[in-house]
Amino acid sequence: MNDIDWSNLSFGYRKTDYNVRCYYRNGAWGEIEVCSEETIPLHMAATCLHYGQEAFEGLKAFRCKDGKIRIFRMDENAARLQSTCRGILMPELPTEKFCEMVKKAIKLNERFVPPYESGASLYIRPLLIGTGPQVGVKPADEYLFLIFVTPVGPYFKGGFAATPYVITRKYDRSAPLGTGIYKVGGNYAASLLASKEAHEAGYSAEFYLDAKEKKYIDECGAANFFGIKNNTYVTPLSTSILPSITNKSLMQLAEDMGLKVERRAIPEEELATFEEAGACGTAAVISPILRIDDPENNHSYVLAKDGKPGPISTKLYTKLRAIQYGDEPDTHGWVTVLD
Ligand SMILES: *Cc1c(COP(=O)(O)O)cnc(C)c1O
Repeated sequence: MNDIDWSNLSFGYRKTDYNVRCYYRNGAWGEIEVCSEETIPLHMAATCLHYGQEAFEGLKAFRCKDGKIRIFRMDENAARLQSTCRGILMPELPTEKFCEMVKKAIKLNERFVPPYESGASLYIRPLLIGTGPQVGVKPADEYLFLIFVTPVGPYFKGGFAATPYVITRKYDRSAPLGTGIYKVGGNYAASLLASKEAHEAGYSAEFYLDAKEKKYIDECGAANFFGIKNNTYVTPLSTSILPSITNKSLMQLAEDMGLKVERRAIPEEELATFEEAGACGTAAVISPILRIDDPENNHSYVLAKDGKPGPISTKLYTKLRAIQYGDEPDTHGWVTVLD
């Protein structure tokens, strides 16, 4: 049926059978449409092209040992998209419609959900764009919300591993009162150059400090940061970071494991005090941090002393994956079983 080599999938786009779409016109969301086209007919003056009226989300569905498909915290993605809509003046999509469309997109492409044993999953990408034409800087009158899915491989091909990051002061991803808290493409455009330079220098990603004072930790590439010390999970509180659903879940699991959880400003120098640290997000759950280099100050913070992921990061990673794959009880009601 499929000629997909499930265990060698990368994190990239692969065509599936269908996507689902819903148009906003005359002040209302329309019916859900099923589409097999990969392209979008678009007005050349659409606001998404000129003024960045574009938001996206990312979540995953997992084929489990019992053969069922489980979706992780999609209501949280719906809520975050609504927050982004309020931030860049797009109409909010109701949670029920969002969830119905996620389920529909998975069901229609069920044959692309990787088998349990592969460690791969189905990545779900919701997208909302301003399609109505404007020449003056104004929000559009018409919008398109669509969801496509694509099977993605396990993030850690050679197993869960710690990798290096590099502090950048040359570029900011987002301003303190800007759009960093929203999942909009513009933040990614702002990060492309920093990301390219970090990769070329051999790092996993660039590491941002706060844009205003360059004193506090913001984000690691397109992932949230957390550090562990003295049985405490510490993660930045900042007005310019994206509220990660993975981070929110890890904070809960850390608390369940008896760790203290702190959300507060983290000065750069505090990096020297963490016993372990990681970057977190949907793609990898946790990317353990080996070290963070600060080349401008000729300094390096080592965060995995023996070169390997720390015990608490490993425990958190294993626990969250087990919940996602239905191997452990879903005590927080995070998982939706697709029927
Ligand atoms: C999507 C994203 C994250 C991770 O969020 P999750 O909900 O955990 O996937 C972190 N930072 C940025 C900038 C993001 O865009």
